Amino acid sequence: MSGVFIISFDCEGKWGVADHIDARIEESFTTTNLLQNYRDLLALLGEHGLRATFAFVGAYTLSAEAFLDRRVEYEPLLSSSWCRVFAAALQRGQIEGWFNPEAARLVARAGGHEIAGHGFSHRPLTPADATRDDVRWELDALRRLDLFDNQSWTLIYPRNQIGYVDELGDHGIVGYRERRQPAFGRAGALLSELNVVAAAEPHASDAAAIPIPAGFFLNWRSGGRRMVPAAVTVRRWTSLLRDAAKHDRVVHLWSHPHNFLTGDGMLPMFREIVRVAAAMCTRGALVNMTQIDYAKRVKSLDAIAVTPVSRWRAGDHDC
Ligand SMILES: [Zn+2]
Repeated sequence: MSGVFIISFDCEGKWGVADHIDARIEESFTTTNLLQNYRDLLALLGEHGLRATFAFVGAYTLSAEAFLDRRVEYEPLLSSSWCRVFAAALQRGQIEGWFNPEAARLVARAGGHEIAGHGFSHRPLTPADATRDDVRWELDALRRLDLFDNQSWTLIYPRNQIGYVDELGDHGIVGYRERRQPAFGRAGALLSELNVVAAAEPHASDAAAIPIPAGFFLNWRSGGRRMVPAAVTVRRWTSLLRDAAKHDRVVHLWSHPHNFLTGDGMLPMFREIVRVAAAMCTRGALVNMTQIDYAKRVKSLDAIAVTPVSRWRAGDHDC
């Protein structure tokens, strides 16, 4: 397979920080602010003809009314420790940042992008945090939403913590974003932001649910990470993109829409990376895919491994 460029966003509002919401988040995570991030990102991607995967927390895609209509169904969630802060906020009627159906609608209306799953409540889905029944409940609840019902879809695990992979196929999930473990923990992750000769990743092999190469987090310019100059991040991504093109590898950029709200100068930095990537896609050096494009491609490659190559080249997803 040729070099591939994937972009994915973890779309979660307050659900992603349900266990450690602070005053800064309370103040900044308003529906208006969060929606502006989606509008900005969709406009930028549209301008350059790039498609991305937007992986939503299921509950985040509902309105408060829709959630309350299904209150009986969601009762196990409301009584879980993960949702303690949310349940209290719901009780007080303070729902800013917890429900945002317009965000998913904006993505769907923009066309061409993939809407993927990021858990129903963002509770971690590892054996240390959840039972197999908990995981089934989360995936079933996601799948009952109109966004996913009866479709093949991909998953981005909450907190990037992988677990119960053998459950995915039974829920129509054809691929999930793999986890890239930074060497030397947080310090190593921060140092790697200075690596301007970074290399992309090899392609995935076929599996019941494809482990999509995890890629790299787009530096969130907040706290200590703000010290990394945006120009260095652009150089780093240019290196990754060139390496993927040169060696037929995968370069996967991931972030959260809300990182563009709380980080400094994120959008201009991302704009530069998108401009470089789009130019490479336009001249055929890279192919832009969503996660589900990629998972299906890996599966089809395996399925036709004994047939002529020309059979699948006709279906390439060019930019
Ligand atoms: Zn998340």
